[in-house]
Amino acid sequence: MKKRYFLLPLVFISLILLVLDNNKTVVNKEITSDVVSINYPFFDIEIVDNYIKDYLNNYSDKEKVTIDYDYYNDEDIYYVTFYRNILDNNKVISGSDSFEIDVSSGNASKINKTNYEFDFVKYKNIDTNRKIVALTFDDGPNYNTNKILNILNKYNVPATFFVLGSKIKGNENTLKKMVDSGMEIGNHTFNHLLLTKYKESVIKREIEDTSKLIFEVTGKYPTLLRPSYGSSNKKVKKAAGMPIIIWDVDTLDWKNHSSKRIISRVMNKVKDGDIILMHDIYSATANAVDNIIPMLSSMGYSFVTVSDLFYYKEVPLEKGKVYGYAR
Ligand code: ZN
Repeated sequence: MKKRYFLLPLVFISLILLVLDNNKTVVNKEITSDVVSINYPFFDIEIVDNYIKDYLNNYSDKEKVTIDYDYYNDEDIYYVTFYRNILDNNKVISGSDSFEIDVSSGNASKINKTNYEFDFVKYKNIDTNRKIVALTFDDGPNYNTNKILNILNKYNVPATFFVLGSKIKGNENTLKKMVDSGMEIGNHTFNHLLLTKYKESVIKREIEDTSKLIFEVTGKYPTLLRPSYGSSNKKVKKAAGMPIIIWDVDTLDWKNHSSKRIISRVMNKVKDGDIILMHDIYSATANAVDNIIPMLSSMGYSFVTVSDLFYYKEVPLEKGKVYGYAR
């Protein structure tokens, strides 16, 4: 008898754990052939999985299609975004679709849709004989960010902005303008804390709150993390859930506030495959960028976003790994 009573608390604990552990395991599945490369999430919930299959079927008759996805969840609600590149009649049509999926009820609905059309030639026309670099801008957005965006747009140059969650409110239009002009938006944490000093729950909150806010404003979930100060440790890598992007050319614009010195730092250090660190919140940086772009162009450099840099250099990006360049 005594032995059985001893087991009772264990039964209760197991029951409580069963109730608490309602997090769904989403499995990645893929469909690949010569012309098709599709990654999609599998929920093991018939109604949801059929909904996703129906969506993907829309693209099964195209000449060539690549589809990938990202997701995050807020308890039972999963937000899934599919990114697609479709070659159709010699044009690449890129776009994304986002869905809200409630795994408790099986309800799924589309919440956002964007479509961009590129000329195929333009889209793939990164001359592989040219050197490529990624310009990156941290700590914004603020009032100066638009100045930088206007300069980038003037030269038709894409860049990657690692934004702070705490700076997004009031600057939503700047974020939308980034997306509209082909910029990439990365996560630079919410409050610019030195993450390595904090516990995992704080690190996660810093990253996730920022990603959610970026998604709410732009409809795109960021896929790159740049921790504040570029510092990471085991905890940060584990919590990141995405590749960690640092840099190998530091312009020191935050220290010098001199466009001349920013320009000479870049010119002295730049190499093919580099990631260049700047801050979009300073006006000296804007003036420097206005000079750096034509100078690097004439030296045989093209400009790409960080994701494209790794794509063109064929360096695979892995979650929780740290990258300072692509070579
Ligand atoms: Zn920073």
